[in-house]
Amino acid sequence: MSGSEEKITLAVKKLRETYRTGRTKDVEFRREQLRNLLRLMDENEEEILEAVHKDLHKPRTEATLAEILVVKNDIAYALNHLSEWTKPEPLDVPLVNKMDSCFTVSEPLGLALVIGAWNYPIQLTIMPLIGAIAAGNCAVIKPSEIAEASAELVGKLIPQYLDQECFTVIHGGVEETQCLLNKCKFDKIFYTGGSAVGKLVMQAAAKNLARVTLELGGKSPCYVDKDSDLEIAVKRICWGKFANAGQTCVAPDYILCHPDIQEALVKQFKEALFEFYGEDPKESPDYARIVNNRHFNRLKSLLSSGECAVGGETDESENYISPTVMIGVKPTDPIMENEVFGPLLPIVNVESFDDAIEFINDRDRPLALYIFANDKSKIQRFMDSTSSGGFLANDTVVHAGVESLPFGGVGESGMGNYHGKNSFDSFSHKKGCVIKKQAMESFNSIRYPPYEEKRLAW
Ligand code: NAD
Repeated sequence: MSGSEEKITLAVKKLRETYRTGRTKDVEFRREQLRNLLRLMDENEEEILEAVHKDLHKPRTEATLAEILVVKNDIAYALNHLSEWTKPEPLDVPLVNKMDSCFTVSEPLGLALVIGAWNYPIQLTIMPLIGAIAAGNCAVIKPSEIAEASAELVGKLIPQYLDQECFTVIHGGVEETQCLLNKCKFDKIFYTGGSAVGKLVMQAAAKNLARVTLELGGKSPCYVDKDSDLEIAVKRICWGKFANAGQTCVAPDYILCHPDIQEALVKQFKEALFEFYGEDPKESPDYARIVNNRHFNRLKSLLSSGECAVGGETDESENYISPTVMIGVKPTDPIMENEVFGPLLPIVNVESFDDAIEFINDRDRPLALYIFANDKSKIQRFMDSTSSGGFLANDTVVHAGVESLPFGGVGESGMGNYHGKNSFDSFSHKKGCVIKKQAMESFNSIRYPPYEEKRLAW
């Protein structure tokens, strides 16, 4: 056993021991930890903004919204609803159980592992943790090593604010994560990231039959109908696509539209991008960078798919790629193979509304699906004829901020969901309980053998 393996397994063992004391089950303890987490977010805003700027050049407003406000709202929501969520829920029962007490209680799953991703490095580690705490679990938090400054900050702050015997941050990359997955036993694994590792997580979880939530990605299509107001559609697409330089799991991955509106769309993209980021987006304080050189080169190689109608500029010294809209893209081009996860937006032509539906249904089920249209019946038909993690008409990305909506994928884009009450449920086991009295034995005894005799008596 290597030094780091020994340290990791020991840390996990200690958390397991704490869980068995029942400390995290106490609702008042959970409330206190959530309040501490809220204080962590309140008192360290500047440090958080600095860390995500260092990692991704993340603009202040984007970071305030997506790394701080969304998280604080989710903690406040959990605090406001914790009493209600932790109460036993009575159920409708058949006549024979009317004298019994039948209800469900949400009990914690036990020891949870939260594996975060780098693109929203604070949100994606803290948001699952809210659910783990609210539901009464102990947890290991493994931030992504790729967003180094943010990972370091999470590792520094969590022990300052949360009970160190219940919540531990473990740093590292592949080796450490493999150790957590294969040498330690968890009751729940909550993973955010790419699907290849998602499959490894599921295999590891299967060994102990641990529950899993997989928050994965994929290509989220965006269909723009001929009847849309193109100026509004393009502004909303640009915001969702180019925020964080396209490194958002629910960013629109590609546009589907009829060839008749392509030229007008491109014109609107030029105008909107100029309005958002000025003449040179590299100079804009509101435009992020690609997280590292590996992803920069991966994205740069995709620029050969089709023609850049807008943008296409790169600067390797800063991992900068300008907001780019591509035309002449064929469904077989490399950019259409995997999730883009960067600021390149291909436009693919379809001949009709039904062709757009078929195009989507021919591919993996996406994490998000977007349609821009004014005709309500088209929106309804689009929603009913496709399958996706989430669905949003006439906007992009904002559904992820509605805390009462379940957020998660389906099929290749993931399994399980979270945010709000769904996070609590994701880290809970719903225990079905019946409490009977020892009275009324004559009524109960009709089920005992010998059966034949009883049936005669009925
Ligand atoms: P990443 O490289 O940060 O990896 C995620 C986590 O997996 C990290 O903690 C990392 O240490 C660990 N990991 C990486 N390789 C591993 C291995 N071989 N074995 C064990 N653990 C390993 O993130 P990524 O995969 O580059 O993330 C990008 C993907 O995540 C995109 O597909 C994106 O759509 C998806 N994503 C999904 C959501 C969501 O909420 N559904 C959010 C953000 C990102």
